[in-house]
Amino acid sequence: MKLYMDVGGTTIRTELHTYDTIIHETYISCDHELYDLIGSLLKRYPNILFIGIAYAGMIHHGCIITAPNIEVEIHDIKQKTEQIFGIRVEIENDVNCAVLAEAHDHTSRDIVALYVGTGLGCGVVSDGRLLHGHDSLAAEIGHIPYKSTPFHCGCGKDNCIELYASGSGMLKWKQYHDMKGQPDLLQLRHSDKQIERDIAKMFEEALLTATGTMVTLFNPEILVLGGGIVSANPYLVEMVTEQIQAYALPEAAKRVTIVQTRLKDAPLEGAKYLEELL
Ligand SMILES: [Zn+2]
Repeated sequence: MKLYMDVGGTTIRTELHTYDTIIHETYISCDHELYDLIGSLLKRYPNILFIGIAYAGMIHHGCIITAPNIEVEIHDIKQKTEQIFGIRVEIENDVNCAVLAEAHDHTSRDIVALYVGTGLGCGVVSDGRLLHGHDSLAAEIGHIPYKSTPFHCGCGKDNCIELYASGSGMLKWKQYHDMKGQPDLLQLRHSDKQIERDIAKMFEEALLTATGTMVTLFNPEILVLGGGIVSANPYLVEMVTEQIQAYALPEAAKRVTIVQTRLKDAPLEGAKYLEELL
């Protein structure tokens, strides 16, 4: 048996693959410490031999370094589970898992996935390999310096591109201008208030800059766009396709194919490929 998990800030989704069936379960993240949940699942299903985990946080060599939206007690989850239970565990950042799933879905060895939701996340597979960097901090496009803002990013700076091209960024701009409610790109674009249309415009401009930067830096065959804001606003894929030329090295922009993700839960799908990685 194999267990795959997608651990997010709100929910933990699991898929247990037995020899003849797949069992899906969902848990509320704040009710479960990951290590305890794994322990209880291993008690229920003692034949699990491999666990692949997509995790919404920074992961380095099987260890949870930070998780912005999850409380963590046990950080060295891979080592501890492997030692205590004698099975193999692989854990990887969720966006990195997502780009692995996209690479398989598109049969591509050079692919960039950009997910636009609460944050702006990015994963890169280059020449068939998942890009990590020395400290597993590579390709953090959301935190490149862009334009200064009157507020701060979660990373501490006040000029990150994520402060423009993300749901949390648009929310901060709304709050700064004393506007109520969650940001809705569609509503902002068609608002009769100039300031709301400006927030939408800033979002689009920053997203084009982010995609253009990734295309210029990594020269992918395919750029996949996903995340809640893209699925609610599929026009963004068309917008990036039409305008990427002005935001990227022209030769790289000419060759890249820009698509919207076809995967329902790319991180969970990607967790299934962690076993192949060494
Ligand atoms: Zn930042």
